[in-house]
Amino acid sequence: MKRRVAFDIEKLDSSFAAFYRKLLGFASSATRTIRKAHANAFPPVAAWFLNDRLVNARAALDQSGYRVGLNVAVPAILHFCFNNLLRSRLYFPELGDSANETRYRDFSSGIPLRLPDHVPLLEALPGIVNVSRPLDDTRAAGAVALTQIAVSFCLYHELAHIELGHVVSSRELFGAHDFLEFAARREWPTNRRRLTRVWEYEADKIASMMVAADMFSADNVEVLSDAFDLPKSPEALTAVALSAIYVVFFLFGQRAGKDRRFASHPHPMVRFGSTIEALVNDVPRHARRDADRMRTVAMDTLFMTHGAWDDLGLPIATNLTNVSVWKWIFRGVDDLERDRRALHHHYSARAWSYPFEAGS
Ligand SMILES: [Zn+2]
Repeated sequence: MKRRVAFDIEKLDSSFAAFYRKLLGFASSATRTIRKAHANAFPPVAAWFLNDRLVNARAALDQSGYRVGLNVAVPAILHFCFNNLLRSRLYFPELGDSANETRYRDFSSGIPLRLPDHVPLLEALPGIVNVSRPLDDTRAAGAVALTQIAVSFCLYHELAHIELGHVVSSRELFGAHDFLEFAARREWPTNRRRLTRVWEYEADKIASMMVAADMFSADNVEVLSDAFDLPKSPEALTAVALSAIYVVFFLFGQRAGKDRRFASHPHPMVRFGSTIEALVNDVPRHARRDADRMRTVAMDTLFMTHGAWDDLGLPIATNLTNVSVWKWIFRGVDDLERDRRALHHHYSARAWSYPFEAGS
């Protein structure tokens, strides 16, 4: 297989290095969580940042075992997104001094999913974060907290591909060495794309449940409420977590919709439809709230995030104020669930655990 080059985060300035180390820590704490919650036999997984400018990630199995790699551009570009969103007063308006932030309209056709080629990564990574920082310290701290959640979601998504047997099955069924995100090829047959979309749907569901578990763990409630200046309510914590996840999908949603026939992932808007459902239904396991109450929080958060995204002039694939779009989103989620039930027997036996209802 092609050898991937690790990015040495220790070469970054000490505060950035510490931040990136902390992000990798999410992967190791998550493997412990999975072992405890789902699979007693979950294997060790090495996690690292890859020296790559494109927003992408992968999960792999080779001679040295399971590995999860996140391109080092991922945290920087997400941090850039949250910094800019927090420079709109529409985004978490009660946080810090939002009135003083100015809109940062410097996006010609959206936020690029690739760091510029002509700047060395060691400069580009801190650079993109520093230039976009909100004026208010509390809002800057909020961007850090949101970045952590969004990156943890990406890492959990990759770990879920291992837990659910996708990585092993991808090798057995397709001879693929790496389980690479966004690797759809034109020549892939329809049934392969149907299967990979189900895998993405499953990985999103597990990742959002793991984010929920983080949100409501005693340590994180304290840390997050402080950093984000929040009341310690399930509503506030859920709003922060969901907004972080929405932004991951908005980022990809900028360019979705042109030609979806060859895509390996469900449409980003359908992905957040399934994430909303997974998270909303999971919150009652952690806090005394019913799913309907949390669904209202989820929709309010979505419209706030969407409003700020729009305020920055950023593109999005669909008009979320249109009722028929929502019908289309939830029909997409239903289709994925139906496909999952039909297809899971092809791979669920290779899973370390399969915490979904078995289908036919
Ligand atoms: Zn994936």
